[in-house]
Amino acid sequence: MAMPCVPLEEVTEYHQTSGTTGQPIYVPDTWQDWEWWTESWCYILWAQGFRETDRVFLPFGYNNFIAYWAGHYACEKIGAEVVSGALLNTEERLLKMKDLRVTAFMATPTYVLGLADGARKKLNMDPKEWGIKRILCAGEPGASIPTTKKRMEDAWGCDVFDHIGATEIGAWGFECTSKPGGMHINEGLFLIELLDLETGQPVEEPGKLGKVVITAFDKMAQPCIRYDSKDVAMWGEPCQCGRTFRVLKGGIQGRIDHITKVKGVLFSPVAVEEVVRSMPQLGDEYELIVDKVGDIDRITLKYELAPGCEGQEKETETELARLLRLKTNLNYEYESHPYESLPRYQVKAKRFKDLRNNH
Ligand SMILES: [Zn+2]
Repeated sequence: MAMPCVPLEEVTEYHQTSGTTGQPIYVPDTWQDWEWWTESWCYILWAQGFRETDRVFLPFGYNNFIAYWAGHYACEKIGAEVVSGALLNTEERLLKMKDLRVTAFMATPTYVLGLADGARKKLNMDPKEWGIKRILCAGEPGASIPTTKKRMEDAWGCDVFDHIGATEIGAWGFECTSKPGGMHINEGLFLIELLDLETGQPVEEPGKLGKVVITAFDKMAQPCIRYDSKDVAMWGEPCQCGRTFRVLKGGIQGRIDHITKVKGVLFSPVAVEEVVRSMPQLGDEYELIVDKVGDIDRITLKYELAPGCEGQEKETETELARLLRLKTNLNYEYESHPYESLPRYQVKAKRFKDLRNNH
C-alpha cells in the first residue's frame, strides 16, 4: 500500500488501479482529492455537451474502477441525473436504458459495442431508436481509434467521446464536441510533458512521438509529480472549439510496454485494431498473438467474420494482408473463428498477447 503524504485521518478513500498486469496499487485520497477528481470530470462532461438536462446511465459494477465513480459524482455536480446500472446483467441494463429513456451513458468501447449487439440480439431492437445523444468512453483506447469510434457511433446513432485518466494521476485529458481528432489536456489542473523516446529531451514539435510525463497540481494524499504514465502521444494542432488547452493528436498512441519489436520492426497493436475495425466483413472481436517459431517472430491474427459473411475467409485475408502490410510493415498468419467464439470483455480487453520468452 502507498504511503500517504498526509496524516492518515485525512484520508477518506482508497482507490485501486484497474490495470490488467501485475499487482493492484492502492491509491489514497483525501476529501479534497476526491472533490478535485470530481471537478476534473466536470471539465470532461461539459466539453462533451453533458448538461443538467441529461439522464446518464452507468452500466458498470461500481467496483474499484475509479473513472466512473468520478463520472457519477461529476454528473451530479453539473446537475445531470444519474442512473446506476450496478448489479444488473447486460439485458437488464438495456431494458433500464430504454425504459428510463436515458440520454447518455458511459462504458468501455468493448462494452459499448457489446451493449449494442445485445440490444439487437436479445431484445431484437435497434438501439439507434432510443434517443441516446452521447457516450463517454474510458478504460481502453478504442474511442480514439477512428474506425472503432465510427463503429460505436453507427451502432448507437450518436456521438462517442473519449477521455484519458489513471487512478494514480487523475483524469487529465478529454475530447470536446469539436472532435479535433485528438484530446485536449486539462492544463488547468495538470502539467503534461512529452519526452523523446530515446533522448528523454522535451518534444515540442507536432507529430513526433514522445513519452507522456504528468504532474497533477492539486493531488494531496499521494502527490503525482513528473509521473511516467508509460503512454506515448504526439502534439496536434489547436482546436476549433476555442479552448486553449493543447491537443494530443489521436489521443494516446499506445503503451510503451505494448510497443515492441517484432521481426526488428517497431510494432503497436493499436494499428491492427484500426485495420480490423475498418473492414465491415469483420466482427468486433479479434486477438493478436506474438510468438516464436524457432528463432523467428510470428504474429497471428484471430478474427471473426460478421454474420452473413461466412465463407469469405480467402478474400478477407488478402485484404487484411494488404492493409496490415501498409499500416505496420509486417506479415501475419490468420485464423478464422466462428462469430462470437473469441472472448468478450466487459471492462478491460486483453486482445494482445506476447508469448515470446524475452517479454
Ligand atoms: Zn476542442
